[in-house]
This record gives sequence, structure tokens and C-alpha cells, in this order.
Amino acid sequence: MELALEEARAAGARGEVPIGAVVVLDGTVIASSGNRTRELNDITAHAEVAAIRMACEALGQERLTGADLYVTLEPCTMCAAAISFARIRRLYYGAEDPKGGGVDSGVRFYAQPTCHHAPEVYSGMSEVQAAEILRGFFQGKRD
Ligand SMILES: [Zn+2]
Repeated sequence: MELALEEARAAGARGEVPIGAVVVLDGTVIASSGNRTRELNDITAHAEVAAIRMACEALGQERLTGADLYVTLEPCTMCAAAISFARIRRLYYGAEDPKGGGVDSGVRFYAQPTCHHAPEVYSGMSEVQAAEILRGFFQGKRD
């Protein structure tokens, strides 16, 4: 989770929304990324999707069965779906996102009958730091 927070801070320094994600398999970090939507002009390049893409590329496979994903903020619906499609085993996230989340907020993607793989979800990891990074970023934008 510490690495995810570092990725979040680095994303913020690049002018991206400061969210970071890390994919771990068998205790090894396979991929880590921050948000890259501005850098890539790609609205789907959220930290989770970017990290999943990198991990799949690194492993040369389309799914990440048995891998765990750490992300600083509750994933949105798109990312929740990508995490499901990638067959991620466990999802660890930091701060809740009642406005944009899709796991424990909003559509609660994993609770839907149309969701065919739900990871185990653990929330609240380093949530204070994760929320602080986001707050600092958006405060800076307003000042
Ligand atoms: Zn997302």
C-alpha cells in the first residue's frame, strides 16, 4: 500500500488526479501505476486499469488469477469491472469514494448478479493518507 501511495503522490506531481495502484502476485510487485489519463489522453487510464494492463503485459497473459490489487481510492465502476474481468483475487483499497466509487458505493458492482467474479474486498487501508493526498491535490487546484 505504501507503493500505491507513492504512485498517487507521483501522479499528483504530474498533474493527474493522485490515485495509485499496485498489482502483487505471490508477494512480488508485478506492476504499479498512477492515474495516466492526462498523459495518455485516455479516460480509461485510471491507475487500476493502467496497472492491470502493465501486469498482463509483464506476465504475457490476459488474466491475473491469484493476483492482488492495492489502490489508494475505492475503484470506480469501470475499474471494479476491470478488476473482476482480470480475476483479481483480493482488492485492497484506501479511502472510500461515495461520489464515484463502484465497490461499496454507487452500483456496488460485485454485489450484482451480472458480476461473475468478485474479489475479496478489504477497505480502509492507509485511508487517512490516501484521503489526505486527494484533499491536498484538490485544495491546491482551488487555491
Ligand atoms: Zn476507475
